[in-house]
Amino acid sequence: MATAENTELIDRFEEFYRNYYRNEIGELAQKYPNDQKSLYIDWDDLYRFDPDLADDYRTKPEQIQEYAEEALRLYDLPVDVSLGQAHVRVRNLPESEDIRDLRHEHHGNLVAVRGIIRKATDVRPKVIEAAFECQRCGTLTRIPQTAGDFQEPHDCQGCERQGPFRLNTDQSQFIDAQKLRVQESPEGLRGGETPQSIDINIEDDITGHVTAGDHVRVTGILKLDQRGNDNEKSPMFDIYMEGVSVEIEDEQFEDMEITDADKKEIVELSNESDIYDKMVGAIAPSIYGYEKEKLAMMLQLFSGVTKELPDGSRIRGDLHMLLIGDPGTGKSQMLSYIENIAPRSVYTSGKGSSSAGLTAAAVRDDFGDGQQWTLEAGALVLADQGIAAIDELDKMSPEDRSAMHEALEQQRISVSKAGINATLKSRCSLLGAANPKYGRFDQYEPIGEQIDLEPALISRFDLIFTVTDKPDEEKDRNLAEHIIQTNYAGELHTHRTENPTSNFSEEEVGTVTEEVAPTIEPDLLRKYVAYAKRNCFPTMTEEAKSRIEDFYVDLRLKGQDEDAPVPVTARKLEALVRLAEASARIRLSDTVDEADADRAVDIAHYCLKEIGVDPETGEFDADVVETGQSKTQRDRIQNIKGIISDIEDEYDEGAPADVVIERAEEVGIDESKAEHEIDKLKQKGEVYEPRTDHLRTT
Ligand code: ADP
Ligand code: MG
Repeated sequence: MATAENTELIDRFEEFYRNYYRNEIGELAQKYPNDQKSLYIDWDDLYRFDPDLADDYRTKPEQIQEYAEEALRLYDLPVDVSLGQAHVRVRNLPESEDIRDLRHEHHGNLVAVRGIIRKATDVRPKVIEAAFECQRCGTLTRIPQTAGDFQEPHDCQGCERQGPFRLNTDQSQFIDAQKLRVQESPEGLRGGETPQSIDINIEDDITGHVTAGDHVRVTGILKLDQRGNDNEKSPMFDIYMEGVSVEIEDEQFEDMEITDADKKEIVELSNESDIYDKMVGAIAPSIYGYEKEKLAMMLQLFSGVTKELPDGSRIRGDLHMLLIGDPGTGKSQMLSYIENIAPRSVYTSGKGSSSAGLTAAAVRDDFGDGQQWTLEAGALVLADQGIAAIDELDKMSPEDRSAMHEALEQQRISVSKAGINATLKSRCSLLGAANPKYGRFDQYEPIGEQIDLEPALISRFDLIFTVTDKPDEEKDRNLAEHIIQTNYAGELHTHRTENPTSNFSEEEVGTVTEEVAPTIEPDLLRKYVAYAKRNCFPTMTEEAKSRIEDFYVDLRLKGQDEDAPVPVTARKLEALVRLAEASARIRLSDTVDEADADRAVDIAHYCLKEIGVDPETGEFDADVVETGQSKTQRDRIQNIKGIISDIEDEYDEGAPADVVIERAEEVGIDESKAEHEIDKLKQKGEVYEPRTDHLRTT
């Protein structure tokens, strides 16, 4: 067993420890085993000490780790403890592999991968040595559990009969185990690639420290797992890792490298006078129009400043934005473009493709072998510190609906189920799109009635844009021209690339494509956004403050008459501040100027006009957004209900519908509206029909 080579290697490690890790081992000895169980060694240190040994650690990690651990056990400690079960964990390999690039040649090697934790099981004990008690003679037979399956003894070590056996858990040895699924970070993916992932098993003291949504760097040993089952084995293998160390990384755009040249270009761009137009032109150039929407999307990318207040509370800087409107108006196209230009983004549909949906979920699925609960991060967690573009938001599941409120305002998601209690971070901006419930948008109906989202959720959006598709000759002609030109540019480009002998000159193609090219290259824009978010934290000037204040107070004033609807709530005020800050960030400015405030007010006004307005009086009405019902409508419903309850007792079978309508007309509600409201009251169960055309309140 103890060959010369082994002894030599163990001696090398002892020497290494003495030279590099004397203090760390002393500390470990103090804390072992309750507070610390592992000695962490930097691969770089080992390399400096002995490059060959360090290389061997990478290619034969399991073997070398045993020597390293043996050396630790033999190490001369200042205090009288034994580091019997202490681990040696290597970290800081010089480079990490992309998850998608892991190949069989890495098999058995020590590798490092980086990504975000998509799934994490809860931590559960795993048996490493099972003690079986013979029911005939009482002898304990110990079976080490190293293979994947649970191994039972064939015969008893005492009486040599074949059981029956009972597992004695008190005499067995367990270790804490957890399984993680690490997925490539959203910012590592370009152009909407599907992220790939790898499963990682971890044990003992490193379990339970990370959770779904954490950005990590994991060092571990790449292993193979044969597909198929015992009866039918497949020649194909899956890969997984045995994790050696897990480090949590700083979540901010780690992969985004901004060179001095980039920086220079960004600063120059930010000083240009038409930078805001350029920004608008940099989003989805193939989509015609929507200047306001595009500007708002850009402001959302830059986002307001997240404020930490002295009392420890936090005001979000992220802007949430919703596009509601007719089908075929380019909403999905605009949303998916975000993936091209956001430093970190997740694009998905409300229906969700994973069990975690949009938020997060505790599930019991194959990942935990159907036994263990798994916490899975959904889109809003994966997009932490970035932007989540969610199409068909109205189609989201009921679970997501309830978690969404917390996610949007508090920017975290709590999961509490089956022993899993976790709070996941979702500090992202939400860009949502939704279709109207009845197919087409009706300007004359309050928004809450038209989309399948509850008012409390709708009110959490800083901006809501409605996109209607009404024929308009001039606009249609421009749109048609734009779409045809875009397609033509595409044709030319494809034609030239597929056809080396093309008649079109490169110049011709260039001029045509230029017209529909983004004004800022997506690559540069991504860096621009990351740079601004990292370095620019503007503060309000007095002029900007009063501009926003005036606008708000002015709107509120309209709600002061006795009967007028309350115009806007304080939520809008924060939205204005965020928009103005984002506007300042686009210029990389340290101050939020009046022009920024103007820009914010202009956008807010545009949105309010389209949706916050009470369709029947033309006045701003925050109730439309916050409760889904305008004040006039609420009054009317109350009136109709009031009329019914006034007269229902005069009749044995409830208030006759025609009498109710007659009374309604007397107070100025016309017949069709009254009928409409009666239907609504019936739908809501506030009124029922004891007999046809007779009404009673509930
Ligand atoms: P939605 O999600 O609103 O239903 P889509 O994004 O799927 O609509 O758009 C449908 C198609 O119509 C897309 O091919 C898109 O390019 C085109 N389209 C719609 N509106 C515009 C527009 N304003 N400019 C250019 N193309 C448009
Ligand atoms: Mg769509």
